[in-house]
Amino acid sequence: MLWPNARIRHARNVEVQERVAAARRETPESEVWLGLLEAALDEGEDGATTWEAAVPTPVADRPVKAPVLSRTQVTLDGRAARGWVRRLLKVTPTVNPRRIDELALLEAAVCYDDARIDAMAATAGAEPHALRVLGQMAALPLLQACARRLASELPATWWEGYCPLCGAWPVVAEYAGLERQRRLRCGRCGTGWAIPLLRCVFCDETEHDKLGYLTPEAGEQTRKIEVCHTCKGYVKGVTTVRALAPWAILPPPG
Ligand SMILES: [Zn+2]
Ligand SMILES: [Zn+2]
Repeated sequence: MLWPNARIRHARNVEVQERVAAARRETPESEVWLGLLEAALDEGEDGATTWEAAVPTPVADRPVKAPVLSRTQVTLDGRAARGWVRRLLKVTPTVNPRRIDELALLEAAVCYDDARIDAMAATAGAEPHALRVLGQMAALPLLQACARRLASELPATWWEGYCPLCGAWPVVAEYAGLERQRRLRCGRCGTGWAIPLLRCVFCDETEHDKLGYLTPEAGEQTRKIEVCHTCKGYVKGVTTVRALAPWAILPPPG
């Protein structure tokens, strides 16, 4: 990967570096995605002060099932935020950076507004999927700062399939520790929340015969795909010793 703005990075979590290196060896086609991920992880550390200063105050009278960030106003350092999104645009060869409004893209991504991102892609002549992925990576440092700062604002119980903090769908169902309690994990802000075992994340299906598992390899016990025959939704299930770090749950885009 050629980094247009190559700079000397301070020592980072070795585990993260090893994981990115391993993914790069296994799936060279994910190169652009890994470049974005690595940039987002760096920004989350290097720009932590900027992003934490932008964490909004939750709105007190939001509806019971609304995520913590709903209806909040995010005020951020516009120059720093534009610079950050522009750096991501430069490492995405399929998108012409001059045709994208950085702050509008960041806002649409934080709001999970794919329709708006697709419209921006159409105007800019960019590939919509590439711009969606880029937008989500752009939103990571802010959303992960929100998750760190607003953890105490999360409702004590949350039985919805979407993230109680940012409203995104989970990317992983984690079964951690001895109890093997099922916890869903958000792929954006990293928030985890417990949810009953037999319940579809997406459509709340609870009928046993409508829910099933697929295991990627025979005999493998630690990874499975939880599938729902009612809505055709699926989520990856992983058994872990302890909760995964926020960066460890991010999947390559499918
Ligand atoms: Zn989230
Ligand atoms: Zn379902």
